[in-house]
Amino acid sequence: MPEGDSIYRAAQGLHRALAGKTVTSFETVLPKLARIDEDAPVTGRTIERVTSAGKNLIIEFSGDLHLHTHMKMNGSWHIYRPGERWKRPRRDMRIVIGTDEFVAVAFTVPVAEFHTSRSLARDNDLRRMGPDLLGATFDRDEALRRIRGRPDEEIANVLLNQRVLAGIGNIWKSESLFCAGVDPFHKVADLDEGQLERIVDCAYKLLRRSASGRSEFSVYSRGGDPCRRCGTPIRYRKQGVDARGTYWCPQCQT
Ligand SMILES: [Zn+2]
Repeated sequence: MPEGDSIYRAAQGLHRALAGKTVTSFETVLPKLARIDEDAPVTGRTIERVTSAGKNLIIEFSGDLHLHTHMKMNGSWHIYRPGERWKRPRRDMRIVIGTDEFVAVAFTVPVAEFHTSRSLARDNDLRRMGPDLLGATFDRDEALRRIRGRPDEEIANVLLNQRVLAGIGNIWKSESLFCAGVDPFHKVADLDEGQLERIVDCAYKLLRRSASGRSEFSVYSRGGDPCRRCGTPIRYRKQGVDARGTYWCPQCQT
């Protein structure tokens, strides 16, 4: 599942390739988008900027048109040169935005909507999103307040909730808790203030480091391998209603 840091990198790549360019072709298999494109064509507009917010990616066109996509499990945006062979099959294509130099293709994005600035500001998923770890500003106190607001839930599950904190997926959930030395199965109510602050600070540090291109996993996908800190085998268990995999060191995380 794409996490905030990979969406952030995708948005930066798309911004570099597309910002300031004129759309020369627009194609979509999504009926809702196609209807709007028929009334108010995307072709001919200028791409003004591409941004991310948590796991949402937003492409802004001239004339107050915003394309909001959310990747969920399998969605992705790719950038190609015109005529270059795609790395995913054509049947996975949902949206193609063409410019003279680059072609941006959205594959299997489950959420794709056109917005005006006004409707974007009213969008419930975006409005209810917690503080964005990769945002231009990050409200640490608000993030801590939202975590504390879920005392009966296990901390690992709370970290995945985008209304609490935006940007963390399954990888950085496990990694942040290892970094903070906190057992993923503890309830929020059982953690003290210092532990909660360490978790948020670790998540912030790890996501930003990964967004700039460097990352090595301490526990994620290392089940059975020795902990890099103490040598104890890393454990793995499914956790929460969605049974998302959690990796942790039983020795370092208490
Ligand atoms: Zn360890």
